[in-house]
Amino acid sequence: MSRLTVLGTGDSTALDYWNSGYLITGLSGQRLAIDAGFTIKYALRERGMCLAALDAVFITHLHGDHVHGLERIGYESRYGYGKRVKLHGTAEILHKLWHECLFGTMGYSSSGQNSLSDFFEPVVVEDQAFRFDGVNFRLFPTPHTAGKDSFGLVLNDKLIVTADTRCMPWLAEDRSSRPIIHDCSLYRGNPAHATLWELKEQYPETVRRRLWAVHYGDDIEQYRAEIERDFAGVAFQGQEFAL
Ligand SMILES: [Zn+2]
Ligand SMILES: [Zn+2]
Repeated sequence: MSRLTVLGTGDSTALDYWNSGYLITGLSGQRLAIDAGFTIKYALRERGMCLAALDAVFITHLHGDHVHGLERIGYESRYGYGKRVKLHGTAEILHKLWHECLFGTMGYSSSGQNSLSDFFEPVVVEDQAFRFDGVNFRLFPTPHTAGKDSFGLVLNDKLIVTADTRCMPWLAEDRSSRPIIHDCSLYRGNPAHATLWELKEQYPETVRRRLWAVHYGDDIEQYRAEIERDFAGVAFQGQEFAL
């Protein structure tokens, strides 16, 4: 049975929680990380794993709490484990990831000048869908940061993972029974993330009852009772969802 494991639930400021990210375990046991922020080694260690456990990564968007673990994955896979991890993303995200993000630290190594494919096996996602070890990934664009592509995922048409986003009108209309792991900022007026108060205003109860709050700060305990009353709950590290 394939599943999603929550690796981290924190926002980019959190110290008490790892960067928001997930691990997909496919039908034959292959593992894909959804995002790889700067805390990914700690998050994997907490689940009894190290970077060698990863077969693939999918990148939702280019923010440090979602991509700054890739340098370690690239270097340790290439020089430590002698392998390349598959790197899934849209053409635009993979292009910008290398040229505007990773090139500065990975462009040159003891091997000389490098390209993205010296460290990873790039897999360009076409038509906003791909399949990994028996799990279907469907991308949807998210309203997050102007000028920057960002995506959420529907997994096997059973689970919605928004990654970083503001509230989405189409999701307010969703009448399925699919659980939703949704960005939930505790900072009022946050211009890039759905806030707890916006989630309450903009999503009906039928949606809120399925919504697990994630990407929160260290002050989450102040809001736990309120979230558990009005939503499915507060997502936690190690939580699993069957796919
Ligand atoms: Zn972000
Ligand atoms: Zn983030």
